[in-house]
Amino acid sequence: MTEKRSILLKYGELILKGDNKSYFDAQLLRQIRKKLKPLGEFRVFTSQSTVFVESEDDGALEAALPVLQRVFGIVSLSIAWRVEKNMDAILEAVEKKIAPQLVGARSFKADARRSDKKFPLKSPEIAREVGARVLSTLGGRAPKVDVHHPQETCWVEIREDFAYVHAKKLPGAGGMPYGTGGRCLLMLSGGIDSPVAGWRMAKRGAFVDALHFESFPYTSERAKEKVMDLARKLCAYTETMNFASIRMTDIQLRMQEVCREELFTILLRRSMMRLACRVARRQACGAIVTGESLGQVASQTMAALATTDAVADLPVFRPLIGMDKEEIVATSRAIDCFETSILPFEDCCTVFTPRHPKLNPTMEEVLEEEAKLPMAELEDEAFRAIEFVRIDK
Ligand code: ATP
Ligand code: MG
Repeated sequence: MTEKRSILLKYGELILKGDNKSYFDAQLLRQIRKKLKPLGEFRVFTSQSTVFVESEDDGALEAALPVLQRVFGIVSLSIAWRVEKNMDAILEAVEKKIAPQLVGARSFKADARRSDKKFPLKSPEIAREVGARVLSTLGGRAPKVDVHHPQETCWVEIREDFAYVHAKKLPGAGGMPYGTGGRCLLMLSGGIDSPVAGWRMAKRGAFVDALHFESFPYTSERAKEKVMDLARKLCAYTETMNFASIRMTDIQLRMQEVCREELFTILLRRSMMRLACRVARRQACGAIVTGESLGQVASQTMAALATTDAVADLPVFRPLIGMDKEEIVATSRAIDCFETSILPFEDCCTVFTPRHPKLNPTMEEVLEEEAKLPMAELEDEAFRAIEFVRIDK
């Protein structure tokens, strides 16, 4: 049997539509090639809404699977057997390679697609023969045939040069190819929420840069390392990441001297937002992203969010605003951030947390407190001392 394996990647409906298709295609292929580069030599090409990944090295192909499962823009993946374009070869692969994969399934159907219309059999005829071969191979162990809602589908695709036969589908990361949705600046803390927020934006195709605020020496170097570790975790889905950090210590100490304690968090958040917008503009980011979720803490009531929004001169995206903590935690685990997020390190927001934060601050009182400090000057100083690191996976 002269067959080889290939990985077939299916991409979402959305990408197929509109004039942007070739742009999306190009971005997706660029991502795939970039992610596969460290793993060896691959042939990557696209044909009729399927991306083909092939390698002479079967081990490299195995290693590529989990990496490809993290590439946004791919809905599902399967390992296909690539065989010569004749029914004998196809049916042999079905018998030897595919049928065993179907043992234990509740139901199945066979389906076929022909992009080469010169192939002597039409798609339904191919499917019929393939289905029959599965049944005859497995006998009593064969799943029952269900053409409407099969648990598994045995696919045959007749392409230009080869036929591809595959069954088990693995889930892809979904979303849009990374980098097709503009650039945003993620306010990244060491908590559970903000990495999930960044991942959600990356999934929708946005380039993600990160900005972290620290309060050294009240927050430690190790706390900052933890945040960089989280940025690194996100890079498994994205690419390298521009990571900026700004020290808020002076601003916080000055606030502590003169401002009402119950408003510390709100005042700090407004200051962070103003600085974030400055960083975003400098890095050509079109939006700010935070991990806020309505009502989760005092600074995330509607009134509190309104006071932070008021100082932003870019759109502020809060992809988690309507999510429960459990839902956020589930995603955090799924993207392998949770264990890092829960490491016990201090955050600049928690170091100076008021004992009784105000839940419904009015704009007047916030402005009144803010006016007690030369904010513009203090923020200029903090902005000048910004540090940049490039994070890689
Ligand atoms: P997280 O789990 O993301 O830390 P949180 O529930 O602890 O969120 P807050 O501390 O109120 O909530 O922070 C809300 C959002 O503000 C965070 O999701 C993040 O986007 C941003 N943020 C908070 N602290 C920092 C920080 N030190 N540096 C950068 N952004 C921060
Ligand atoms: Mg936090």
